[in-house]
Amino acid sequence: MRADRKKDFPLLRDNSIVYLDTAATSQKPECVLKAESEFYEKYNANPFRGIHELGEMATEKYEEARQTVQEFIHAKEPEEIVFVRNATEALNLVAYSLGSEILKPGDEILVSIMEHHSNLLPWQQAAKRTGAKVVYLECTQDGHFTEEAFQKAISDHTKIVAMTHVSNVLGCKNDLKTFAKIAHEHGAVFVADGAQSVPHMSVDVQDLDVDFLSFSGHKMFAPMGIGVLYGKRALLEKMPPFLCGGEMIDSVTREGAVWAEVPHKFEAGTVNAAGACALAEAIRYIEKIGFDTVEETESRLTKLAMEGMKQIHGVHVVGSPKAEDHHGIITFTLDGVHPHDVASILDADHIAVRAGHHCAQPLLKHLGISSATRLSLGIYNDEEDIHAFLKSLAEIRRQMG
Ligand code: PLP
Repeated sequence: MRADRKKDFPLLRDNSIVYLDTAATSQKPECVLKAESEFYEKYNANPFRGIHELGEMATEKYEEARQTVQEFIHAKEPEEIVFVRNATEALNLVAYSLGSEILKPGDEILVSIMEHHSNLLPWQQAAKRTGAKVVYLECTQDGHFTEEAFQKAISDHTKIVAMTHVSNVLGCKNDLKTFAKIAHEHGAVFVADGAQSVPHMSVDVQDLDVDFLSFSGHKMFAPMGIGVLYGKRALLEKMPPFLCGGEMIDSVTREGAVWAEVPHKFEAGTVNAAGACALAEAIRYIEKIGFDTVEETESRLTKLAMEGMKQIHGVHVVGSPKAEDHHGIITFTLDGVHPHDVASILDADHIAVRAGHHCAQPLLKHLGISSATRLSLGIYNDEEDIHAFLKSLAEIRRQMG
């Protein structure tokens, strides 16, 4: 059955491509593209700078978008939402700024082995700068962390815990609420990466009680170049700025500066106001569909894909064998065929998937592989997409022996 939803997405309308690479970036619905151009057509001025009506409107639109994000992730106040370029920038901001504030020699940063390089390299760098040490939390082969392993890895030297909500390789969802609670009992700050969860499920930062959460607009139907760092206000207030320049100050003298209040302290330079407005529209688009529908669709298609893949000789799904443990992400290897070849042959059939190390080299090494092919789903995918993928994969198997 063809999803009606494809008609919302200009790039997917003619069904010339089977897009199974949403974890890398999502396609954009027309309403979001319109929201972005509407900012430039109707409200374009530099927010916070113009003492004119247009400047005020631009500021208002940008701050409205902040409030939409706040409500979407159930943050306590809009000031806890910092607009950045993407999840990578959000995580670098925390690692640099929080790291310089609280880390000292002998401290430990507990990083899960499941992290995308974006939630790993900033911590390695923070450790180098401060004399702290990165400690890794290992996961099981089917991709989960036991509470016992977490209790063993954390100590009173642990100052920061970094963990993804949903793995971009394994598709598994981590129990952030439990781990954040244990981290807090040890006095550690919990930094969660929501890049692969926020687009696909309802996330409530107050319920999870994470201290920080990062995500990228482009993975949730918004344009590239807009992302979010959620941070608890008390922590954001005590952190020094990450980037310095225009708009992040209250006053400047020859000797120094007084920083602006949060979140503006962390939004140096001209902001991506059109991107923020488009992100707000993407959120409204998701809310109109509803996360129940998103989750039902993605889990049904995941199950269909995994059942079909089981029938193809030599296919090995990375992580859990259970479809319900894969939140729209299935990474696999095919015996005797290099993942890049799998992806290239699928591409010849106009099926877009990703192959490689998925920016998670330590995880792949831990799992005993160096590269794999990944299909990842979005709300626009349908049964026909999965059937096309399975047919093409079976043909690769047939041709390559
Ligand atoms: N974290 C996870 C889990 C991801 O999957 C990605 C991107 O694939 C990122 C972080 C980085 O996102 P971005 O490249 O948008 O900064």
